[in-house]
Amino acid sequence: MFVTRFAPSPTGYLHRGHAFSALTAYEAARAAGGRFILRIEDIDVTRSRPQFEDAIYEDLAWLGIQWETPVRRQSDHLDDYQAALAALTADHLTYRCFKTRKERAQAAASAPHGRAETFRGAALPAAEEAERLAAGAPFAWRLSLDAAEQALAGRSLTFTEEGQGPGGEHGRIKVDPALSGGDVVLARKDVGVAYHLAVVVDDALQGVTHVIRGQDLFEAAHVQRLLQTLLDLPAPIYRHHRLLTGPDGKRFAKRDHAETLRDLRARGVTPGELRAEMGFD
Ligand code: GLU
Repeated sequence: MFVTRFAPSPTGYLHRGHAFSALTAYEAARAAGGRFILRIEDIDVTRSRPQFEDAIYEDLAWLGIQWETPVRRQSDHLDDYQAALAALTADHLTYRCFKTRKERAQAAASAPHGRAETFRGAALPAAEEAERLAAGAPFAWRLSLDAAEQALAGRSLTFTEEGQGPGGEHGRIKVDPALSGGDVVLARKDVGVAYHLAVVVDDALQGVTHVIRGQDLFEAAHVQRLLQTLLDLPAPIYRHHRLLTGPDGKRFAKRDHAETLRDLRARGVTPGELRAEMGFD
């Protein structure tokens, strides 16, 4: 059974870019006679707001989208992510990272071909770590790409891209986890989970067969496929879609104050008009 999802973060109102993504997934599920799931990715406690979550339901219903209930809200399932983190930690694939952004950039710069985004680190010596923990120093749990490579023992991973990456990538893609940002954060000390780990756990728990989302997350698929392998979870098929751009050629984004779906609604745009504008009939 084909199962796909739309997984917004309630950190702002939805705009056209979200509508395009949600409709792409929804229509794909309908065309395949499959299931469409809505998931609320609200682990970013500092930015998520209940009013944005309420607005997601309202805006998607306005677009004519129907989803299964109950909706999975990530903040209700922190135990699931903790269990996954514990499994990775038991396999020596994680470490506590106390480095600041600046320190990581410096460490990455001194490595061959280093960029801040390709930072690779390691656990501190036990005594030093104990001291920092006792002092209440902030840290993040990171995935050790070095340890992951060792665990794979030369086995190379791939994922299936049925859509397109930003560089036209399509078909069987060889996994290069460094593309996703080096030793990615799996959990922050305060929240206990971060994006990549939560997505991978949820996609598996919810039986998602097709991850349909924007090309801006194509690179994320590399480390997500690695995490699936390390956690022994099934591999979904990926369909990254193009990003919708405005008349200025720029993609719609929260930070540019893109016109929200509620703004469109308030000025009388109908869902039918919006769907047609985006190429859905
Ligand atoms: N929550 C993510 C976002 O709003 C999407 C995650 C995903 O589709 O994998 O950008």
